[in-house]
Amino acid sequence: MLDGSSQSSRTLRDVSSLLAAGLIKAEDAPSLERVGGRYAIAVTPAVAALIDRSDPKDPIAAQYLPHIEELVTRPDEAADPTGDGPHSPVRGVVHRYPDRALLLPTLACAVYCRFCFRRDQVGPEGGTLTETELDAALSYIAATPAIREVILTGGDPLILSARRLADLLRRLAAISHVETVRVHSRVPLADPARITDALTAALTAGPPLWLLLHVNHAREISAPALAALDRLRCRGIPLLAQTVLLAGVNDGPEALEALFRALIRARVKPHYLHLLDPAPGTARFRVPLARARALHAGLRGRLPGHAIPTLVLDIPGGFGKVEANAPRLFPSPDIGFVVIDPKGEAHILPPGVAAETESG
Ligand code: SF4
Repeated sequence: MLDGSSQSSRTLRDVSSLLAAGLIKAEDAPSLERVGGRYAIAVTPAVAALIDRSDPKDPIAAQYLPHIEELVTRPDEAADPTGDGPHSPVRGVVHRYPDRALLLPTLACAVYCRFCFRRDQVGPEGGTLTETELDAALSYIAATPAIREVILTGGDPLILSARRLADLLRRLAAISHVETVRVHSRVPLADPARITDALTAALTAGPPLWLLLHVNHAREISAPALAALDRLRCRGIPLLAQTVLLAGVNDGPEALEALFRALIRARVKPHYLHLLDPAPGTARFRVPLARARALHAGLRGRLPGHAIPTLVLDIPGGFGKVEANAPRLFPSPDIGFVVIDPKGEAHILPPGVAAETESG
């Protein structure tokens, strides 16, 4: 069950609503209708309020407003760029690493990000696991003692009702080998009013829980978002953040420094800086790999160590997430970049992720 009690009822969910709100131009509407027919749209009032309508390059708008280039899928882009499919033993579970598993209780989100790596699956129609499917997912976790951490992701698990979240977390607490839970969410930024006392209480109903905030720009950490983060912290929930490096949003030293300083002020530890996964229609967000590495290296001189996240990359094909620096990833003459997966096997990064990315 989704909780429709907060701002979501006024979320802008189609091109005509975006037009009426002054967020897109009338001449762009017909082509954006085609984008909306392919990928879900949702812009919450909290996000709409952050968009500078006078700036055609606004970094908040770039993340959430549809764009005509989304209709172009490059040959190197894939609907499942991180290769989750082969690692999904039952619907709603992805089990790639022995000690942890993803649990996706819903594929719906508060907002739909234009760079999302699950964009072919997420959406209001993506659905929440049925009771039967959730039973099967929890049975798999219960029958797999190697799983010590369950990562709730999606979709965005914090759009579930407090009652449903508490129920899910209690069921995870009943599985003795599940030691911790991690929740991935951008709801504290995109719909901070949803972080109610009931919801934060629900988050304490199960195993020790960490919240990993998805955030890409300093302006997303608004006053209401700061208050929502405070409510989570008051429940003793540790806060981490992950950021996707996105052209036109945060691909400059000043933007990254501002974001990570804002997170540290909010007492949120920057954890990962992700390279973009090559999902369909996302090429405009690509940052060349060499430039990404240079930007990350440059943070060392600008920020204290605890404000610098680890630069990571999901190896296309489902080979896992690795640090995008030596000794895991290094340039090699004539063949581009070589990456060593978590099992120690070497892969040449495909052109779309490495060489082609070098030229944008
Ligand atoms: S909130 Fe997460 S899952 Fe949902 S569209 Fe954005 S990136 Fe994708």
